[in-house]
Amino acid sequence: TIKLPARASASIEVLERAGFEAWCVGGFVRDSLMGRPSGDIDVATSAPWQEAQAAFEEAGYRTHETGVKHGTITVIVDGETVEVTTYRIDGPYTDARHPDSVTFVRDIASDLDRRDFTMNAIAYHPRRGLFDPHGGSADIAAKVIRAVGEPKRRFSEDALRILRACRFASQLGFAIEAATLRSMEACAPLLSSIASERISKELQGFVCAPHVHDALIECADVLAHLMPELSAMKGFDQRTPYHVYDVLEHTAYVMQNTPPYPLVRWAALFHDMGKPRAFFAGEDGVGHFYGHAKLSIELARPTMKRLALPSSLIDDVLLLVRYHDDVIEPAPKAVKRMLRRLDGRVDLFRAMCDLKRGDALAQAPQCHGRVALADELDRVLDGILEAQEAFSLKDLAVNGTDLIALGIAPGPEIGRLLEEVLEAVIDERVPNEKSSLLAFVQMR
Ligand code: ATP
Ligand code: MG
Repeated sequence: TIKLPARASASIEVLERAGFEAWCVGGFVRDSLMGRPSGDIDVATSAPWQEAQAAFEEAGYRTHETGVKHGTITVIVDGETVEVTTYRIDGPYTDARHPDSVTFVRDIASDLDRRDFTMNAIAYHPRRGLFDPHGGSADIAAKVIRAVGEPKRRFSEDALRILRACRFASQLGFAIEAATLRSMEACAPLLSSIASERISKELQGFVCAPHVHDALIECADVLAHLMPELSAMKGFDQRTPYHVYDVLEHTAYVMQNTPPYPLVRWAALFHDMGKPRAFFAGEDGVGHFYGHAKLSIELARPTMKRLALPSSLIDDVLLLVRYHDDVIEPAPKAVKRMLRRLDGRVDLFRAMCDLKRGDALAQAPQCHGRVALADELDRVLDGILEAQEAFSLKDLAVNGTDLIALGIAPGPEIGRLLEEVLEAVIDERVPNEKSSLLAFVQMR
């Protein structure tokens, strides 16, 4: 069932002709057994890296000493790379791929023992076939993520494995085996010792993957160590006619129903986080959530900062969360007003439409019609762009210099005036032509 690319079998060939043993390992073997496309090719070998390097150079291949402290060299075959790593067992990890210290070992079995999950601990050789001492193929067939060895020990050695399991669940649609999941939950407090950049990289993979609904529900108690509000969302009954799910389940569906890019998926994760705190029951017993978007922002901002997400991404996510529940009439004026609130950012408006579609689909059936409304908003925006109508300061037929030429003193007043002009143009109180706008400014 596995077909190795030519560069993988060529690499194994070179090493074995030089008298060593070599296997294809890791993500490539897993993905091939699943029949899904895979990226990097990893080869594990008994050769010490210096001897592996010598064998490849001898055979006419270029090599790079990319991670020789950990026994890894990169070989260039037909312009593509193969990572070749000496069999090893690992000391503690401070980054995802490279442990702080390693011990080189003689056999592939020990090398497979140090790997994280059974599905990632399978070796394949073009003639010897699969070497699968941990039952990884059976777990792949059963769609199960299972720690290699004693799960508590493995997650204590390297807590990042906890988030790798969450990310793989979301990417592959696998369930996490019960004892593995329990150990992830038990070891989750260890996540606080891990660098935020490494955490956010795994989390971003998690939120942008195709099975995020099931994975979020399954991993909520684990992820609550990074985002405590998830616990309050879990099981929180909204008590409104518009919702059929609790806040967590609703959130999971919104994420699942949005296209998989970071901006909209992060916004979906946070959009209703403030609901449990904003809730109060009306006299009729129905739930109300006045101002929940503001509370969601107050929870989302520090969480994203702690995760060290890029500040431009944080700003954009917060804008979407803030306005996600605003009703936008599918008419040019209303769309332009929202565009103005979104700093004139067309990409943010499109993401808002994606979020609104996902939100509508995750609500009660009578709300699904709002999907068509979001489609309509996209079309109205198309029309605005086509007609090149003004919706941000840079579209105005006047600028700060024009106002200064009118005798207005430079300073913050200029900005305020331009905003006023833009509002008037969007509201169609004045056409976007220079002479009209200058007259408008002088008359006020
Ligand atoms: P991806 O498709 O995300 O690249 P992958 O399985 O190839 O998945 P990598 O991070 O590229 O993951 O690592 C390659 C292999 O190294 C894994 O399949 C696994 O066997 C091992 N590995 C990586 N990180 C760890 C870790 N933190 N602990 C134990 N083994 C690990
Ligand atoms: Mg990989």
